[in-house]
Amino acid sequence: MVYKYFSITFLSLIFLLGCTQPRYSRTEFVLGTNCTITIFEDRKESVLVEQALINAFDRLREIDNLMSVNLPASDISRINASAGIEPVRVNKDVFNLITNSFICYFYSSGAFNPAIGPIVSLWDIDGSNPRVPLQQEIDAALPLTKFNDIEFDYDTYSIFLKKQGMSLDLGAIAKGYAADETAVILLNAGIKRAIIDLGGNVIVLGQNPRKKPWRVGIQDPNGQPGDYIRIINVTVDQYYTSIVTSGGYQRYFEQDGIRYHHIFSPADGYPVNNELLSVTIISPNSMYADAYSTAVFVLGYEKGLEMVNNMPLTEAVFVFKDGSVRTTNRVELITP
Ligand code: FAD
Ligand code: MG
Repeated sequence: MVYKYFSITFLSLIFLLGCTQPRYSRTEFVLGTNCTITIFEDRKESVLVEQALINAFDRLREIDNLMSVNLPASDISRINASAGIEPVRVNKDVFNLITNSFICYFYSSGAFNPAIGPIVSLWDIDGSNPRVPLQQEIDAALPLTKFNDIEFDYDTYSIFLKKQGMSLDLGAIAKGYAADETAVILLNAGIKRAIIDLGGNVIVLGQNPRKKPWRVGIQDPNGQPGDYIRIINVTVDQYYTSIVTSGGYQRYFEQDGIRYHHIFSPADGYPVNNELLSVTIISPNSMYADAYSTAVFVLGYEKGLEMVNNMPLTEAVFVFKDGSVRTTNRVELITP
């Protein structure tokens, strides 16, 4: 058995800046990945900037503590531990994110499914014992991934998973939510230019210091971290724009020459295997960009393109297994 596994998410995007303005940058390991916030401000603003960075990382740790499936005391773990037993009253942010994931589930025809937890656990791609499950294990787990078996109580902010063995996994949406929350903290602190990178969930905030569109590199899925397959221009129409990539090239293991990665088809419980290597979504909202980059990767090019074309202010870059790249109409490529 050939076995290979990367436990840390590599940056999916790189930024090509040549700016002169002072940068304040901090990186911390939160949400299971390296999170970097870079702020471009005048030196006289340093106290304000330092405080904004402290507040932003405090918020990221708070979201991690509430939403991680790896922490037994998190709200998500408590919901999962009470599956089939009783409803669990949760933090309002967690409740709102789960109800938002409901929207993403419907918009993507179930391709994004936060009730996929039992399948994620079976394969254990992110854990210490990744393996190919038996078909009968997958067959037993799939009926426990029905979104309709989640009950919401809007009066008490309670969530109930109706069947024992069900479990939620917000890994495909929570980093995007966390990126939006970080952006709001920076904007409220009066910061006008920044980059937020939560392990590939990226936000560019305000104008590029050179007053030109941000130049964003899309990771080459077959290259080394930092090798880009295309560079795109990203403009910020309002406050910020998010760029999020999903693909099967970062978290995976290999057995008998076959690569098994961490994004699953809710239809059959297997890692998605279609013509795509990665999908990048560009959107004014990082939570949706996160959920929909995963969903479009699951749907494949044709259905995924149709979905993106029906969404306002949303663009996509598709990288195919044959090395080709296609984009939606408004994406501005800088290199061929
Ligand atoms: P995305 O495509 O955005 O999401 C893929 C992830 O979503 C999969 O890993 C799986 O969990 C889930 N998923 C798979 N298929 C589907 C589907 N069809 N629909 C919906 N969801 C699906 N990693 C660690 O190694 N250690 C940690 O302690 C840790 N803590 C975390 C805490 C939080 C709050 C969050 C949000 C993430 C954490 N992570 C941790 C990372 C997490 O395990 C995932 O690997 C990561 O979120 C995947 O993000 P992505 O951008 O690579 O892929
Ligand atoms: Mg995602």
